[in-house]
Amino acid sequence: MYDLQKIRNDFPILGREVYGRPLVYFDNGATTQKPRSVVEAMTNEYLNVNANVHRGVHFLSQQATDLHEQARETVRRFINASSVSEVIFTRGTTESINLVASSFGQAFIKDGDEIIITAMEHHSNIVPWQLLQSRVEVKLRVCPVSDDGRLDLDALARLFTSRTRLVACTAVSNVLGTVNPIADIVRMAHAHDVPVLVDAAQSTPHMAVDVQSLDCDFLAFSGHKVYGPTGIGVLYGKERWLDRMPPYMGGGEMIGKVSFEHTTFNVLPYKFEAGTPDYVATTGLACALDYVSALGFDAIGSHERSLTAYARQQLSQIPGMRFFGPSDDAVISFLVGDIHHLDLGTLLDRLGIAVRTGHHCAEPLMHRLGIEGTVRASFALYNTFEEVDLFIAALQRVVAMF
Ligand code: PMP
Repeated sequence: MYDLQKIRNDFPILGREVYGRPLVYFDNGATTQKPRSVVEAMTNEYLNVNANVHRGVHFLSQQATDLHEQARETVRRFINASSVSEVIFTRGTTESINLVASSFGQAFIKDGDEIIITAMEHHSNIVPWQLLQSRVEVKLRVCPVSDDGRLDLDALARLFTSRTRLVACTAVSNVLGTVNPIADIVRMAHAHDVPVLVDAAQSTPHMAVDVQSLDCDFLAFSGHKVYGPTGIGVLYGKERWLDRMPPYMGGGEMIGKVSFEHTTFNVLPYKFEAGTPDYVATTGLACALDYVSALGFDAIGSHERSLTAYARQQLSQIPGMRFFGPSDDAVISFLVGDIHHLDLGTLLDRLGIAVRTGHHCAEPLMHRLGIEGTVRASFALYNTFEEVDLFIAALQRVVAMF
């Protein structure tokens, strides 16, 4: 039983009003709201446990370390990694991808090599590779997107050459809601002996992820998009790659022995975790992953898919409606006639509806679509059909103004 009212009670913010109207929060692709259990677990840790992890002999430090390492085990289970050595805590998807670009780049990418990305990537899976270009002459080859918002897999197959060193691809587009066939892409890349990095920022909140069955080599996600705190995320990497990659940052925690002449590095995953980690956020993240796991992705996915289909069907009744992408997942991007996306978003806000407008950190995709931006409604496990009705009514009012 998917008890939506009970679920909503877990998220106090959903009960608030904006401009004297009930809040309808449809900006979940940007960040999700937090259940009370996540906030309480973090507050409890600050109030009752707080001590720096890993280095202390004293009681609190050991308790904080236990919570932190249990959180790593929770993440391992959530993505079905084979070992906690493969679970690196980062600040989020962006840092995870930068880590791979920097460290994998240093170890495995030489002048003349190539990396394949796609035309629907978020800036955080484009710019780190461009930064790498300031160190080595690496060419970015870009898999095109069709008019209906899907990757052209035949074109992708033709992009591989003997110089391809990595494929970096999003699991779900944050603009189009396209769910990409990651397992097929991994198989295609592995047939060329090329590893694959998956940007799972938009998939982890909506569908189960199993890194072993996907067989991906790296996978990145952010805690805040999956009902956890900000400032914490994960990089999964296969041990056989991580072992051969140099550290990303230097400092405490990531070392074995240090002298002025020579420093050795810690074992995985600590080699990639310099400095004091956000050990309170890891507790919050684990709590959030437990929360979604208890509901189950079958139930979450089925609720979100019917909500998305209903919203899209209702939106399609509005004259001048233009959709961008297939909305396989809980994301709908649209424009109405030639009304500017910012005008739509601003007026919707005044009616209590929170949506996102703009290029959604995917400017190259906007160029491909020949637009400047869209309005994006993105749904979460706590959204309701009544909220969709409020959104549609508000949008009809706004459109009528033009
Ligand atoms: N990739 C995708 C597909 C995203 O949607 C986002 C967030 N909008 C990111 C990467 C970056 O995530 P973060 O800002 O949490 O690092």
